[in-house]
Amino acid sequence: MSNSLRAVRGMNDILPADSGLWGHFEATVRDWLRGYGYQEMRTPILEHTGLFKRAIGEVTDIVEKEMYTFVDDLNGESLTLRPEGTASCVRAVIEHNLLYDGGKRLWYTGPMFRHERPQKGRYRQFHQVGVEALGYATPDMDVELLLMTARLWKQLGLADSIRLEINSLGGAEARAAHRQKLIAYFQAHQAELDADAQRRLLTNPLRILDTKNPAMQALVDAAPSLMDELDDAARQHFDAVCQGLTDAGIAYRINPRLVRGLDYYNYTVFEWVTDKLGAQGTVCAGGRYDGLVAQLGGKPAPACGFAMGIERLLVMMAEAGLAPATPSPDVYLVNVGEAAGRYALQVAEALRDAGFIVLRHGGGGSFKSQMKKADASGAAWAVIVGDDEAAVGEVSFKPMRVEVAQQRLPLAQAIALMKEI
Ligand code: ATP
Ligand code: MG
Repeated sequence: MSNSLRAVRGMNDILPADSGLWGHFEATVRDWLRGYGYQEMRTPILEHTGLFKRAIGEVTDIVEKEMYTFVDDLNGESLTLRPEGTASCVRAVIEHNLLYDGGKRLWYTGPMFRHERPQKGRYRQFHQVGVEALGYATPDMDVELLLMTARLWKQLGLADSIRLEINSLGGAEARAAHRQKLIAYFQAHQAELDADAQRRLLTNPLRILDTKNPAMQALVDAAPSLMDELDDAARQHFDAVCQGLTDAGIAYRINPRLVRGLDYYNYTVFEWVTDKLGAQGTVCAGGRYDGLVAQLGGKPAPACGFAMGIERLLVMMAEAGLAPATPSPDVYLVNVGEAAGRYALQVAEALRDAGFIVLRHGGGGSFKSQMKKADASGAAWAVIVGDDEAAVGEVSFKPMRVEVAQQRLPLAQAIALMKEI
């Protein structure tokens, strides 16, 4: 196949061998969210570029170099494939005035797009489940989000390999004070900064703390801590979140270097991380973003939320052997002969009317080869029709997994008997 006809690099097909795991994950997530009263939001995959610049921040990795942005030839508008879901969700909440009668608990899922270097757990089209609680200011909501995620890890069978790191970014004043100290600190160590950090020094020094460059770790570890700048309100909020986690028996580590790659966060930030995925160790990340609704033009409203990377969780589940077995049909419908082929379509529908999951053999082939396929399908029953059966409206049937002789009966009687067994 020529390169130009292949899928775009970093954008994956989800094949039948994997879609069972996806389906299992999605069903678990839907039940889990219902249990906490969250309602689904579906927003467009394309938004005006300005939305992401405004929400995520101009001087972030995502906006600087990861967005798929293009000009719509038809009207000259700059559009962007969404790199994350919070901006779109908040945009829709403001546009449709969803907070008019108080707080809202919302969730979404779907593909996100970032132009990154593809590797295991990092793709250019990837999928997230995101959860946003809008209109709630108090720390109980931060705690609820964390209890929720802890429960999901249990339900997915991953609780033992995912752990929680949290931090507080404080309010705007604390970040401003910390920013000055950081700039002074990094200026004093200018020679040790990599190119990215040099560039960020005056525009977004906080982001230097999020560097993935091992050569900068020691420098970053010794940098002034935002924790030291927190005012009483931020400190109390953070303490209440920690207390809530302790009350619930959820282990956590305070990581003063945790800053997140998006500008909209304040107060609580957190990441759920694993050692099982190499450098792509964050499976879920979020926190508070009390300023974002106002920043996007809405009536000020506090908010918090998180997003998890579905592919990373699925890799963990697959590697831990947690993928569900492919379900077998109840019936494999063997049909040999031309009249039998037509009759088989009716027999299959009648069986489905009675509640059976039916895999009808298609495409001809000998009786023997069809019986082999029936066996391989894992079906509990083989229902067999030839031209003889077709002529008189009967079927032959036999259980595949126990030694019982084949029987032949009129279709309705056969179905009644099969349902009984
Ligand atoms: P990272 O530090 O790994 O680049 P991030 O801080 O950019 O992650 P967020 O924007 O917080 O990630 O997105 C939330 C989650 O979405 C991440 O924790 C991760 O699980 C997942 N994610 C982010 N980018 C990708 C990607 N390119 N491919 C697959 N999953 C991703
Ligand atoms: Mg990233």
